[in-house]
Amino acid sequence: MSYVDEIYDRVVKQNPAQPEFHQAVKEVLDSIRVVIEANEEKYRKDAFLERLTTPERQILFRVPWVDDKGQVQVNNAMRIQFNSAIGPYKGGLRLHPSVNIGIIKFLGFEQVFKNSLTGLPIGGGKGGSDFDPKGKSDREVMAFCQSFMTELHKYIGADTDVPAGDIGTGAREIGFMYGQYKRLTGLYEGVLTGKGLSYGGSLARTEATGYGLLYMTEEMLKCNGIALAGKTVAVSGSGNVAIYAIQKAEQLGAKVVTCSDSTGWIYDPEGIDVALLQEVKEVKRARLTEYAAKRASAVYHDKATEKNNQWIVKVDVALPCATQNELNLEDAKTLVANGVIAVCEGANMPTTREATDYFQAQKVLFVPGKAANAGGVATSALEMSQNSERLSWTFEEVDAKLHDIMVNIFHNIDNASKKYGMEGNYVAGANIAGFLKVADAMNAQGIV
Ligand code: NDP
Repeated sequence: MSYVDEIYDRVVKQNPAQPEFHQAVKEVLDSIRVVIEANEEKYRKDAFLERLTTPERQILFRVPWVDDKGQVQVNNAMRIQFNSAIGPYKGGLRLHPSVNIGIIKFLGFEQVFKNSLTGLPIGGGKGGSDFDPKGKSDREVMAFCQSFMTELHKYIGADTDVPAGDIGTGAREIGFMYGQYKRLTGLYEGVLTGKGLSYGGSLARTEATGYGLLYMTEEMLKCNGIALAGKTVAVSGSGNVAIYAIQKAEQLGAKVVTCSDSTGWIYDPEGIDVALLQEVKEVKRARLTEYAAKRASAVYHDKATEKNNQWIVKVDVALPCATQNELNLEDAKTLVANGVIAVCEGANMPTTREATDYFQAQKVLFVPGKAANAGGVATSALEMSQNSERLSWTFEEVDAKLHDIMVNIFHNIDNASKKYGMEGNYVAGANIAGFLKVADAMNAQGIV
């Protein structure tokens, strides 16, 4: 059996019941097979892939907190410090009832290659808890965040591990966590990113993932002789990534006709009204039914009563921006039958493996999340730089750097796909380009 296949079997055996982690590892291993097999003996002797697929450290802890009724609640929490070969661990904190160790490991593993692609000195990590901020009072969210940070602060620091936001962890949660970190350690340092502007945050960090997704989509289309302006776009999700993806797509002349949340989705043939969506989601923290109630052109579809989702709408470009495995083979077939040209992932691994393979077989331009959504972590790294030099850059400076980073990432993955004989396969290009830098650093640092 080849070394790559052996390692995949080992990962499945040693990490039972973690399907998302298996899926992420398989995709990367399949892509880098060509690199490994060119030098298999050396990689095997160094147990290189065993080290690459095993987190450096996994921290599991409980988070007790008191709800508004005086009842004690206990959540599970974790931080996976996956790989620090090229810099301090960096990656978000997810707060969602679905969080488990397999999901956080998949996200941490993806983060290693994504962070490498940014060209910035950041290693990969991820964390989170099965706490659900939805429906909780601000006091309850604060109680959870303070208890969470009381444990987590022992393992993180500006030069060791710098967490950020993710699903369920927005500006409010980062603020509560930062306050508690500072109180416990006495340090006013860049230990978290996604901070508010009044206490060390970076301009354009809020917009970065969504904007970066569109900078990459536009560049990728341009390099394939296609203009983004005038195209119709489907977005899923209505959180941080989705909102700013919609805003930038519309600024670049495309029309976004869908968005969604976990209970339903909107079809708005006139184009999503971003200001209204922001008011509903960012200010009121309400459901999309409120968007539909205020917008005559919008139709709301309830996921509880309808089988279909936003991928049935005929569009040129699809941008899944909600969560993992939200776009399956059936959705991919519908999108292709409706003439989709490009799919770029705003979320992490939103497309199932079967759907990804189908898009590629049908010659749909497909950019994986680890490249397409890297603008968020790249701007987090820019926030770390600003914190270190005790300076704040203007929105335009950060946005220009973000744009350059995304264009560079696209050309890197495009070049890698060509160099390894898989032109246009941006999944392979991203995995190989991300891997090579990490591998070089791991080899240079010996067996650690
Ligand atoms: P948010 O919490 O701001 O928004 C998530 C959106 O997805 C919400 O609309 C939410 O709906 C929906 N959603 C979440 N879980 C599910 C589910 N199980 N089924 C259906 N819909 C769901 O998160 P972000 O926008 O920050 O993150 C979205 C994706 O992008 C994630 O995969 C994240 O890992 C990835 N990402 C985020 C980055 C960032 O900078 N924020 C950077 C890189 C990647 P509802 O409100 O109803 O739950």
